[in-house]
Amino acid sequence: MPNSPLTPGIVPARLPAAAYAANFSDSEPALDAHEARVAADRCYFCHDAPCMTACPTGIDIPLFIRQISTGTPEAAALTIWSQNILGGICARVCPTETLCEEVCVREVAEGKPVEIGRLQRFATDVAMAKNRHPFSRSPATGNKVAVVGAGPAGLACAHRLAMKGHAVTVFDKRSKPGGLNEYGIASYKATGGFAAREVDWLLQIGGITVTCGVKLGRDVQLSDLIRDFDAVFLGLGLQGVNALRAEGEDRPGVANAVDFIAELRQAADLSKLPVGRDVVVIGGGMTAVDAAVQSKLLGAETVTIVYRRGQDQMAASRHEQDHAVQAGVRILHNAAPLRVTAEAVDFAYTEAGPQGLKLLDQGFALKADQVFKAIGQTLADVPAGVTVEAGKITATPAKVWAGGDCAAGGEDLTVTAVAQGRDAAEAIHVALTAL
Ligand SMILES: Cc1cc2nc3c(=O)[nH]c(=O)nc-3n(C[C@H](O)[C@H](O)[C@H](O)COP(=O)(O)OP(=O)(O)OC[C@H]3O[C@@H](n4cnc5c(N)ncnc54)[C@H](O)[C@@H]3O)c2cc1C
Ligand code: SF4
Repeated sequence: MPNSPLTPGIVPARLPAAAYAANFSDSEPALDAHEARVAADRCYFCHDAPCMTACPTGIDIPLFIRQISTGTPEAAALTIWSQNILGGICARVCPTETLCEEVCVREVAEGKPVEIGRLQRFATDVAMAKNRHPFSRSPATGNKVAVVGAGPAGLACAHRLAMKGHAVTVFDKRSKPGGLNEYGIASYKATGGFAAREVDWLLQIGGITVTCGVKLGRDVQLSDLIRDFDAVFLGLGLQGVNALRAEGEDRPGVANAVDFIAELRQAADLSKLPVGRDVVVIGGGMTAVDAAVQSKLLGAETVTIVYRRGQDQMAASRHEQDHAVQAGVRILHNAAPLRVTAEAVDFAYTEAGPQGLKLLDQGFALKADQVFKAIGQTLADVPAGVTVEAGKITATPAKVWAGGDCAAGGEDLTVTAVAQGRDAAEAIHVALTAL
C-alpha cells in the first residue's frame, strides 16, 4: 500500500535492479579484529572519562575499550550490555558525534575521537554471533508487569524486569516488535534484519511474552492493565505527526516522512517502492534527513530538504547533514512552505525576530512531484488518567510508569529511550519488592 495517493511522477524501479542492494548496504562497515585493536589502542583510558558521562546509558567506555584492546571482546560486550541491553543497535544509530565522541579527549585535542561507536559495534557483533544470551534470570518473584510498546524503551524495561525475576507481558499495536528500530531507523544503519535479530536475542532471557497487534485504548484499557498486573510501563513513543499548515497539504503526493520510512523498512523488494523524480522534504531532524537520503538512494533525481530556521538549529547533527549532502541531497535553510501545488511547493523566506519566526515577502518555488512532511512527531492516544504537559507524559497513576519518547525528559534518541526504560524497571523493581 503506498503511503499517499500517488502522482504520475511517483513511480517504482527508477534504478537498475542491482543498484538497490548497493545503495542500501551498510553505511558504516564493521571494523575487523585488527582494525578494532588499532582503534582501541588510541584510547587513553581516562580517569573520570568524559565519554562515559556523555553516554545517556552511562556505559563504562574506557573499560570496554580496554577489554577490546586486551583481546576479550565478549567481556567488552558484557560491559556494554550491563548498562545498555540494546547496545548493538545503539552502536549503529547513536549520533556519537554529539554524545561520547564529541567530548572524547582525543577529539578535543586532535579533532579525531576514539571511534567509540564502531568499537561498541565490534564488541556486540562478536558476542552476538555466539548466539548465547549473556544474562540469566533471578528466581521468579511472582510479580506480573505489563509493558505497552515494544520499542527501545519497552524492550529495555522488559529485559531488566525479566532479569530481576518478574514475569513481563509486552503489548504492541504493530505486527512486529522493535518500535522505530524496526520501522523508523534508516535501513542502511541497521542492515540484514539487525533490529529483529536483536529483539530475538534479547528475548532469550526468558520470562517475557510479546503480544503484537494489541492496541492500548482499543483492545485493552489502562484500567484493565492496572487491575490485572502489579505494575505497568508505558513506552508508547510518539505516534502522531505535526501538520504542515500549508495550503494543498492534502494533495496527492504529500505524505508523512515516517510512513514512507516505515514502508521502506518493511519492503521486501525496494525496486517496487515508488518514489518521485523531484522530492521535497520539509523539516530539519533525523527523520527529514533519512527520508531525503533514502529517496535519493531509491533513484529520485533531485531531493531538497527545506528547513524553516538556520543550519545550527537543525535537530539533525552536522554529521547527519553532511551525510545527506554527500548522498546528493540539497539542504536549504530559513524558508517555510506556503502552498503545495500540482507540480511545486511555494516557500517564503523566514527571518527570526523577537516575536518569533517571520515570513518575508520574498520566496521561491521548488518543482516537486513528491513531498514529505518531517516536522516532528506528537504524542497520540494518551490513556485516561495520564497527565500530559507540553506534548509529553509528566505524571502517571499509581502503579504506572512511562519512559522513552512519550515521556518528558527524553531526547527522542534510541539510547535515551533505553536508559529510561531500564531506569523505570529499576524503580518498578524497588516498588514491587518493597511491598
Ligand atoms: C525516522 C526516524 C529515524 C530515527 N533515527 C534515529 C537515529 O538514527 N538515532 C537515534 O538515536 N534515534 C533515531 N530516531 C529516534 C528513535 O527512533 C526514538 O527516539 C526511539 O525509537 C524511541 O523509543 P520508544 O521506545 O520511546 O518509542 P518507539 O520506538 O516509537 O516505540 C513505541 C512502540 O509503542 C507502540 N505503541 C504506541 N502506542 C501504542 C498503543 N496505544 N498500544 C500498543 N502499542 C503502542 C508502537 O507501535 C511502538 O512499537 C529516529 C526516529 C525516527 C522517526
Ligand atoms: S574520552 Fe576518549 S580517550 Fe578518554 S576514555 Fe573516553 S574514549 Fe578513551
